[in-house]
Amino acid sequence: MNSAPAAGAHRPVRRVVICGGGTSGWMAAAGLAKVLGKRLDIKLVESDDIGTVGVGEATIPTLINFHNLLEINEQEFMAETQATFKLGIGFESWRNVRQDYIHSFGMTGTDHWTAGFQHFWHKGVERGLAGDYGDYCLELKASQENRFAHLPNQGMNYAYHLDAGRYARYLRRLCEPRGVQRIEGKIVRYTRHEDNGDIRSIVLESGQEIEGDLFIDCTGFRGLLIGEAMQEPMQDWSQWLFCDRAIAVQTASVGPAIPLTRSMAHQAGWQWRIPLQHRVGNGLVYASRYLDDDAALRQLLGNVEGEVLTTPRVIPFKPCQRRNTWVGNVVAIGLSSGFLEPIESTSIHLIQRAVIRLMQNFPADGISPYDVAEYNAQCNSEIEHIRDFIILHYHVNQRKDSQFWRDAREMDIPAGLRHRIELFRATGRVFRIPNELFAENSWIQVMLGQGIMPAAHHQTADLMGDEELAHFLGSIKASVDRTVQQLPAHQLYVERYCGRP
Ligand code: FAD
Repeated sequence: MNSAPAAGAHRPVRRVVICGGGTSGWMAAAGLAKVLGKRLDIKLVESDDIGTVGVGEATIPTLINFHNLLEINEQEFMAETQATFKLGIGFESWRNVRQDYIHSFGMTGTDHWTAGFQHFWHKGVERGLAGDYGDYCLELKASQENRFAHLPNQGMNYAYHLDAGRYARYLRRLCEPRGVQRIEGKIVRYTRHEDNGDIRSIVLESGQEIEGDLFIDCTGFRGLLIGEAMQEPMQDWSQWLFCDRAIAVQTASVGPAIPLTRSMAHQAGWQWRIPLQHRVGNGLVYASRYLDDDAALRQLLGNVEGEVLTTPRVIPFKPCQRRNTWVGNVVAIGLSSGFLEPIESTSIHLIQRAVIRLMQNFPADGISPYDVAEYNAQCNSEIEHIRDFIILHYHVNQRKDSQFWRDAREMDIPAGLRHRIELFRATGRVFRIPNELFAENSWIQVMLGQGIMPAAHHQTADLMGDEELAHFLGSIKASVDRTVQQLPAHQLYVERYCGRP
């Protein structure tokens, strides 16, 4: 599986060199400094001339765990990064033109049953007793009503929209007092250990040489060490994910920020809209095989609201993942390790998972091939599940308006995904695979949203008579509605929370 380090590689790791200072570089620095900082010498090298990719502004709730680990004060973080709250993603026209649904972060219904809530809801639909599946989910209804508040006992599951540039600068301010040394400069070459080919040092344009025991490659799509030096190949997934370009542009806000990332499907991809406190992030993700750059740009600019604040930038990418993200003494984190388009906002999550996984397998006493193999296996299975979840959004569609959607519908998909879709279609059952990011409720929301209605439900649901079922469903919906009505408007809540009058 992994090209295991050869003899002589068992050097203790004290000096960590992080190459790159985008979101991944600074998240890696923040995590390592907080947890292992007392034992490590951590340097981060970044180049102002090269800059960062400058996108990546929608997150998922797991980021809160990472922030808790870093002891980040949420109000300070939100004010510094101009963040807003996010309760899910609104998928517009994905199933079919003008047919929308929301993938929210909350739980739908209750989970106190041997069979999932979807079976009771399904029976309710058959008996004419149930509303939309989303009527039973607090976060989904709150996002539709544009409301938000923190609720006791983490009663509202949420994430953030944040300004990527400000986030990296914010993390830097946390890291430097914790001992991380930032070095500005362009890495132009590297040297190797003679015994095993590991990286010994990186050399900057200025001539400065920086030695290390472990190198974390956060150089973005360039993959300077993992790709160029270690020659680790990418696994290319473009047979399932056709989009290979994005154009990003920032606009002025024209109305209150909503607690949803908007994902609007178009004829050859989709457009995002991410509302922050001070502006809106927009972008068009598209497949160059079906739409050229000029047409994509026209489409994006024709569909943004508010004054355009930045020059639109085309960002080419490949849906891919390195075969191994840890090779020798190089660990690739962030875009250098691979990239899946951001329809489910998973990249920052994957950075955080990689940082935590690295700390769990940290090679303090020397790099062991077993640690490396375990790390790589975990990374691969994690991203393959996310990849399948993303493919689901494209494959199960009813759009007839373009070749892009017809091709996505007709393509062959990974066997594991095909099984999950067929199982749900036939029985309504969904099972989360251990350690996969998306839980049952996410799969159900997206499969229903994309238009799969199960043919059957679990027999447990039949044990409830109509009256009992109506009461059961009605009481959940009433509780959701009651809570939502008590929540303040999202924009107002953010302004108060971040200390603005
Ligand atoms: P970069 O931001 O590119 O940083 C690379 C760093 O390496 C920079 O500091 C650069 O200066 C440095 N560097 C490179 N070469 C050298 C060199 N030779 N010498 C010195 N320094 C060097 N993720 C989400 O979670 N949610 C989203 O909504 C989302 N949307 C996205 C939309 C698009 C179109 C794209 C492309 C990505 C999106 N992502 C999203 C992913 C997210 O942007 C990245 O995961 C995140 O920004 C991390 O990037 P990075 O730090 O790996 O790379």
